[in-house]
Amino acid sequence: MTVKEDHSTEEKKSLSFVEQLVEDDLAKGKNGGRIQTRFPPEPNGYLHIGHAKAICMDFGIAEKYNGVCNLRFDDTNPSKENNEYVENILHDISWLGFKWGNVYYASDYFEKLWDFAVWMIKQGLAYIDEQTSEEIAQQKGTPTTPGTASPYRDRPIEESLELFNKMNTPEAVEGSMVLRAKLDMANPNMHFRDPIIYRIIHIPHHRTGTKWNAYPMYDFAHGQSDYFEGVTHSICTLEFVPHRPLYDHLVDFLKTMDGSDDNMQDNRPRQIEFNRLNLTYTVMSKRKLHSLVEERLVSGWDDPRMPTLCGMRRRGYSPESIRKFINSIGYTKFDALNDVALLEAAVRDDLNKKACRVSAVLDPVKLVITNYPEGKSEEMEAINNPENEADGTHHITFSKNLWIERGDFMEDAPKKFFRMTPGKEVRLKNAYIVKCTGCTKDEEGNIIEIQAEYDPLSKSGLEGANRKVKGTLHWVSADHCRQAEVREYDRLFFVENPGADERDFHELLNPDSLRVFPNCYVEAYAADKQPGEYLQFQRIGYFMADPDRTDDHLVFNKTVGLKDTWAKVNK
Ligand code: ATP
Ligand code: MG
Repeated sequence: MTVKEDHSTEEKKSLSFVEQLVEDDLAKGKNGGRIQTRFPPEPNGYLHIGHAKAICMDFGIAEKYNGVCNLRFDDTNPSKENNEYVENILHDISWLGFKWGNVYYASDYFEKLWDFAVWMIKQGLAYIDEQTSEEIAQQKGTPTTPGTASPYRDRPIEESLELFNKMNTPEAVEGSMVLRAKLDMANPNMHFRDPIIYRIIHIPHHRTGTKWNAYPMYDFAHGQSDYFEGVTHSICTLEFVPHRPLYDHLVDFLKTMDGSDDNMQDNRPRQIEFNRLNLTYTVMSKRKLHSLVEERLVSGWDDPRMPTLCGMRRRGYSPESIRKFINSIGYTKFDALNDVALLEAAVRDDLNKKACRVSAVLDPVKLVITNYPEGKSEEMEAINNPENEADGTHHITFSKNLWIERGDFMEDAPKKFFRMTPGKEVRLKNAYIVKCTGCTKDEEGNIIEIQAEYDPLSKSGLEGANRKVKGTLHWVSADHCRQAEVREYDRLFFVENPGADERDFHELLNPDSLRVFPNCYVEAYAADKQPGEYLQFQRIGYFMADPDRTDDHLVFNKTVGLKDTWAKVNK
């Protein structure tokens, strides 16, 4: 069961429970006051916002307590891993604004792990099992009934040693044998029931190539890597709680092997678990994200609808807004579902401070200023960002023929319609006050042009120009603007918690998650804006140029609207 959490975006002042545990360890003088964490992604996909939560924790603890956070690629399964993922993970972490100490790979320890496994066999703590994985699974028992011992459990140590070497040859048949730790088939913790610690894989590894044919399992690599590196706090997510006793047990063996068991409690990594991030209207499972990409249900890992960091970057989210959001939801010991609206609020809040204000018309209709001279144009001054004077100003060209939003005009408007309607005045942003005089329709009654007259004395910024008119509209000059494609995104899934839904996730996809507006107009100044530059299309929302853009074909992504309209529509 997941509960939906409600949080304000206020900064948290009190210590998180992880910080509390770290401070307790520091107070006890553990590890000589040294703090070392790691972020351990498996390079089998792109990072998503859930990983960002772990990154903020791992790097955040190191930063706060003058420690170091290393990056360690948990690359123990060559069948799903590659260098493209490694490169993108490095890029995404830097983009979030974090700096790692060293970059390590679990594959750096294959030799050491092999030696440890050999030591385990020699101690009678591991054996080669030649049963099939199905047979092994059948013998596991249940949490309340003990498992059954494998017929190979007590085979001679020499035999296991020989077979272990055989496992690591190209001739070894995948699935024909595994190495299992010899622990306790009756332990209520299922992870102790002789876990598999090595298996045969012949797919070449992205770093070690074909050197290895036998690979350690996660539980035989993770804690060991932490130990080899001198990690003091190994922070991970709650699903690893049941793995912790095995993690500690295997570290005990390592310390025994090293002869450092006289001081079992010191210099050993401590595993601490926090709750995963789950967000409404999206999925975080790598398997499902892979399916979305491979089945071309999205345009790629960086599709702006994806919960990936590269998708969010492409959409126009700032790293600061993601960090602020993560900080606001905090870390707990129980799983929950966080409202994506909270993330969007953090994005709006941050982009309000950063975005350059420009004018763009997404659903254009012509507006002709009938008393403005044909062929004349004027450069109007536009403030780039009212939140930050240092961002300066730019020019927007005004002329006789403009585009405005179709929705900003009504022929028979109710009294409170403060936009364009015959007989009423409105201000055109950064330009003049105009009075609508009428409109022209086609044979079907569609409005194809609106007419207005401008007041030459009402230019923005001029003395006496500020007579009160109720509405201010954005516009672009038809002869000076640029055509653009605008992509607007909605929730990728139409149910709040697709990850917990019994239906196949394909059935839960929102068919209208992408709307393309091919025929928008943006002011010339916006045409040069590149991916990475935050924009606000005034009165509409935040936008960013898409990498698909060319100088001849402009493309913008809608990052988020100015207000949370979703909440209103759907509640
Ligand atoms: P996989 O299914 O491939 O194991 P994963 O999401 O666990 O996927 P990893 O690359 O193993 O991916 O994750 C790296 C780290 O990020 C782990 O420590 C993991 O606990 C953490 N992490 C992954 N998903 C989330 C999430 N949704 N919230 C918080 N932390 C997460
Ligand atoms: Mg994982």
